[in-house]
Amino acid sequence: MNLCTLKRFFKKIETLENNLYRIRNLPIGSIAMNFQNPVFIPGPTNMPEVLRKAVDMPTLDHRSSLFGEILHPALAGVKAVLKSKTAEVFVFPSTGTGGWETAITNTLCAGDKVLVGRNGMFSHRWIDMCERHGLEVQVIETPWGEGLPAARYEEILAADKSHQIKAVLATHNETATGVVSDIAAISQTLKTANHPALLYVDGVSSIGSMDFRMDEWGVDIAITGSQKGFMLPAGLAIVGFSPKAMAALETATLPRTFFDIRDMGKGYANNAYPYTPAVGLLNGLKMATEMLLSEGLENVFARHHRIACGVRAAVDAWGLQLCAVSSDLYSDTVSAICTPEGFNATSIVTHAADKYDVAFGVGLGEVAGKVFRIGHLGSLTDVMTLSGIATAEMCMVDLGLDIKLGAGVTAAQEHYRTV
Ligand SMILES: *Cc1c(COP(=O)(O)O)cnc(C)c1O
Repeated sequence: MNLCTLKRFFKKIETLENNLYRIRNLPIGSIAMNFQNPVFIPGPTNMPEVLRKAVDMPTLDHRSSLFGEILHPALAGVKAVLKSKTAEVFVFPSTGTGGWETAITNTLCAGDKVLVGRNGMFSHRWIDMCERHGLEVQVIETPWGEGLPAARYEEILAADKSHQIKAVLATHNETATGVVSDIAAISQTLKTANHPALLYVDGVSSIGSMDFRMDEWGVDIAITGSQKGFMLPAGLAIVGFSPKAMAALETATLPRTFFDIRDMGKGYANNAYPYTPAVGLLNGLKMATEMLLSEGLENVFARHHRIACGVRAAVDAWGLQLCAVSSDLYSDTVSAICTPEGFNATSIVTHAADKYDVAFGVGLGEVAGKVFRIGHLGSLTDVMTLSGIATAEMCMVDLGLDIKLGAGVTAAQEHYRTV
């Protein structure tokens, strides 16, 4: 690199940084260090440096064999993370929401009946999508904070003698409430009722962070995105189709073009996409799966569990409750924390952003203003988590809640030093 290009290069970096200041409406150079703060939103997550670098690559021909060397290991890596021997994996330039659409449109027909539980904002949005696609949606209404009720799924499936229900939908980890549902139990209801419906699982905020077993649990379509467990920027919808889900392709008539997995599959056979792939993100995905698999999935899950337990110890020390109604439902990737009656939980999130430059998640839908969320998934350590707990504590004290500075931090420290 000669001096001139080097100067241009630094100029470019400077402009990018200045842009961030401008977005935040701050004097240029004023808070440079604050950009170092981790985020505590339940996706997008913090990114490991190595993945940021993996995503940033020069343009390469996306119809070359070189691209195949990125694509195929990424697909194989996802398959291993899903714990599947038989799934076909497809990755679209999109987000988790596009994964929902991929599942529905490739396997169902207008008017088909689907059975789905609603216990938070994400299951709600998937239901809305099913309705907009002209599906007949039978909703199992479940109070927010509770898990999806396998017993209700079972009753309804057992009563459906003529097998009108074509697919059963479940959100594994409801990110709005911090509730994990028992997918193995829901899958078992299909077996018990001897029902042929397919099982689609939204694993957007669980896959790659919490135990997920596509084959063992009999999941027909598993859905996720790049910006949660895979620790990448948003931009990819990631889906796994079981052989049974692949067979449903033959009869599905819902309109699909961009998300047609037949076109995608044909592309893959030639180291290509039916259109232009997000090459950098795919390279990141390849690297992310390598990272997760080399850490060992069980270790990744144990790390998330340990970190989550520290957050829960802090919540307990604050005298606050989680939105999740019982400990078997506690999510290891996000905690939705209820604030006292009459207090606007969203003010914690706003204050944390304004005063400390730290991001927490707001309450969504029914629990808006009632909970704030600490996301604890992806690239995170005990030490980073302690900083988030300390910040939440400062905010709550600043805003007049009856909480003692250090109470939650101490509880989490005790947990992290002993586990
Ligand atoms: C984040 C999330 C989604 C939506 O994913 P996008 O990537 O924002 O489209 C869907 N379901 C769950 C459970 C999520 O956490």
